[in-house]
Amino acid sequence: MTNEELWQSVLSQIQLNISPANFATWFANTKISTIEDSDVIVSVPNSFSKEWLEQKYHKEILRILKSLDENIKEIKYVVNPINVKLSNIDKKSFKKEDLNEQLGFSELEVSKDTNLNPKYTFDNFIIGPFNEIAYAAAMSIVEDPGKNYNPLFIYGDVGLGKTHLVQAIGNKIKENDPGKKVKYVAAEKLISIIVTAIRNQSIEDLKKNLRELDVIIVDDIQFLAGKDKTQEEFFHTFNSLYQKNKQIILSSDRHPNNIPAITERLKSRFNGGMIADINIPDYETRLAILKQKTEEKNVIIPADILEYMANNIQKNIRELESAVNRMAIYRKTNKTIGLDDAKKLLKNIIVSPSKITNYKKIVETVTEFYDIPSGNLFFTSRKKEFARPRQISMYLLKKELKMSYSEIGRKFGGKDHTTVIHAYQLIEKEYEENDKVRQEIELILQRIYSK
Ligand code: ADP
Ligand code: MG
Repeated sequence: MTNEELWQSVLSQIQLNISPANFATWFANTKISTIEDSDVIVSVPNSFSKEWLEQKYHKEILRILKSLDENIKEIKYVVNPINVKLSNIDKKSFKKEDLNEQLGFSELEVSKDTNLNPKYTFDNFIIGPFNEIAYAAAMSIVEDPGKNYNPLFIYGDVGLGKTHLVQAIGNKIKENDPGKKVKYVAAEKLISIIVTAIRNQSIEDLKKNLRELDVIIVDDIQFLAGKDKTQEEFFHTFNSLYQKNKQIILSSDRHPNNIPAITERLKSRFNGGMIADINIPDYETRLAILKQKTEEKNVIIPADILEYMANNIQKNIRELESAVNRMAIYRKTNKTIGLDDAKKLLKNIIVSPSKITNYKKIVETVTEFYDIPSGNLFFTSRKKEFARPRQISMYLLKKELKMSYSEIGRKFGGKDHTTVIHAYQLIEKEYEENDKVRQEIELILQRIYSK
């Protein structure tokens, strides 16, 4: 049997057990490139397929291969750049080591020491009238941490670059002086750290550690609202660092004076430094951001489409980015893209999602995507393979349709609303932090909105 015949037999068996859409998505342009000893090298068109074959279909493929040829022991999946050429990606993208990055899978590790994600830098941060004050303040802090503005308080709506900016400050300070102790923490995380430390009676150790920092960055500080105990502990840490001229950097979705249930003394501390807001980017900046993101992803998008995007996605940089991702995924399998295709792909970002999709479409698409039977089982079963798709469904129902948590809970066999909230937050976090999860969800969204 030739390699080609061998692979064809594998595919024909796989095909029996999965939906045609999934088959097309994950197995198109795959082949056996060589067999080395007992290892089969399967070439796949992109790292997206690679991940999926490895994670979801590996066992099955191996089982079939072994049944066809008992000498086979292992499978390795390699991304075959030749196929990438089909999607017209620029020549220079063929360097293998760059490939993952170009496909949007640059997996930069969050530093264990600082909690900072190295992907947030000033180099890839676009400056415009909407964020230049915040940027200028950030730069002066980088030059001389703890001396100029303390604390620095950045506020603005979701998706406008707060996390990016505060992390870029941390990364830059660390780059300039690796000896500096920098720590990034999301306020929600800080709350749980403090609560746990109180419970374990290790709060004194925790405070001691925090007080040794040179730079502390607390993101989304609005979540401290109403958490009296955490505020209390944070207040002491704040004072101690402040007195030692250590840099404190905070972000929030609103001005400190508008955060409810924050003690007056914390408010006045927040007001004591520099407060800078980030606004909505203007058209020129939106276009600049789009250009930068397409370059990062190495995807070519015609000017009229970029302009359409910049005109219609105005309030959220994350949405601009998500639009580029969607184009990139599309371009992996299509040679060209026209304005009409783009309009379709961006439908739910641009028009209110709840107008163009519904409960049935979302649930149907998710079950198809993960290849699980729809119906009661999916809604109530305790089986592990249903848990994740269910969480994703819950997330999408909330995000796209703005259904209430308890309503979603009812749809899923009377689950408590806290279960739904948990699912939503979990997926939301992964969406933000994990490129693969983001790609997966974007792909599901693309299907939902092309139904
Ligand atoms: P926020 O914390 O305000 O909700 P983020 O910092 O998470 O927003 O930004 C959302 C996304 O947009 C991130 O992926 C970030 O890298 C990107 N982004 C935000 N601002 C800029 C900018 N000025 N230039 C380039 N990318 C940006
Ligand atoms: Mg943020």
